[in-house]
Amino acid sequence: MDVQKENSMIKQKQMLADHFIALSQVQETGKKVAYTFVPGNLAELITAFDMLPVYPEINSLQSGMRKKSHDFIREAEDAGYPEDVCSYVKCDIGMMLQGNIGPTDQQLPSPDILLLSYTGCFVFMKWFENLRRLYPNAEIAMLHIPYQADGRMEPSAIKYVKDQLRKEVIPKFEKVSGKKLDDTALGECMARSASAEDLLIKVFESAKHRPSPIDAYFGGVYYIGPIFTSFRGSQACVEYYEALWEEVQYRILHKLGPITPEGAVKEEKYRLVVEGPPNWTHFRDFWRLFYDHGAVFVGSTYTRVGGVYDYGFRHSAEDPLASMAEYCMGCYTNRNLPQRIELIEKFIRDCDADGLVINSIKSCNSFSAGQLAMMRDIEARLSIPVGFIETDLVDPRYYSYSNIKNRLDSFFQMLEQRKELAASVRATA
Ligand code: SF4
Repeated sequence: MDVQKENSMIKQKQMLADHFIALSQVQETGKKVAYTFVPGNLAELITAFDMLPVYPEINSLQSGMRKKSHDFIREAEDAGYPEDVCSYVKCDIGMMLQGNIGPTDQQLPSPDILLLSYTGCFVFMKWFENLRRLYPNAEIAMLHIPYQADGRMEPSAIKYVKDQLRKEVIPKFEKVSGKKLDDTALGECMARSASAEDLLIKVFESAKHRPSPIDAYFGGVYYIGPIFTSFRGSQACVEYYEALWEEVQYRILHKLGPITPEGAVKEEKYRLVVEGPPNWTHFRDFWRLFYDHGAVFVGSTYTRVGGVYDYGFRHSAEDPLASMAEYCMGCYTNRNLPQRIELIEKFIRDCDADGLVINSIKSCNSFSAGQLAMMRDIEARLSIPVGFIETDLVDPRYYSYSNIKNRLDSFFQMLEQRKELAASVRATA
């Protein structure tokens, strides 16, 4: 069956295609390239320097979706990377060892600067040490982001990050780009980011409707594409979210469910929240396991991996460096466990969800550590069923269809029994 695509998806596809073309042409255009990570990224700063970002995680997930990751992971393992290393890393390194041909089959340029924005995952550090070995001529900038151990952003921590931006990161970007930072350009990027963020949060909050007009997980990973990667701060990004919000409003008005690759959801049977990233190598099959049960995701933590806007944070031109510092510190993996649980609880309560699914990713300790404690806490607080499944990001060896299906079948049975019980209580009341 053909995959159904909405206008916003087509628009996003074009944006990505243009971006990879621009990356393949840097030798002619002279544009400089920054490799950096998604969580708490500095997209506005990179754009203000008129440079192009490359996100290794995005290349890995794209390779996973295009069924290329297995080969890249093998290449990295043959080069000595052990089996338990994060599969994003191995997929990315394997791709580079095979010539750094990106997901669109175009040559990716080498980095002029490696910008390590360190937000809570130690693997980031090791990943960049390896990239440093592959690209010894690249400039290195390290931005250390303090973990929210006590669930707060201390003013001293914001100052600490601002100081690093001013003294370490910006001077290195000025050196690589050969330009002084243009404060006006940066401020304009911040304002456009805030507009896009307002629209994205409206899209996510639309899941409070019944039926939900969006799938906040499988659809959500497309919704976060532009804002968490190369496009935040651009006019194209704002226009993408305007188009998306228009589609969502149409579905709210006509009481329509989300569009999936299998078609529109006809009957929303279960409203779920999910913790953890999706599996990319079997993305469509994985989505279908939920679609077949009439399950729609109304909230997901993974769609906050780049940054959390649910409590009001927006990029601001008023004090751009403080704004960047707060953004980096606020991203999901830089939050402590009680904060993460609080966010899950908020999604469940706000959207009146029937259950929680935890997708524990073999590769990713940043997400997986503490998930069993989170599960027990949510069960105790809200008395709702929790389904626990295990997959991986881009290593297809850790996707077992029958195991996942068995666990989900039991989970959906539990949900069904609760629905029947609630219906019989209502009938006798
Ligand atoms: S362990 Fe998780 S957060 Fe860290 S690099 Fe791998 S996928 Fe990203």
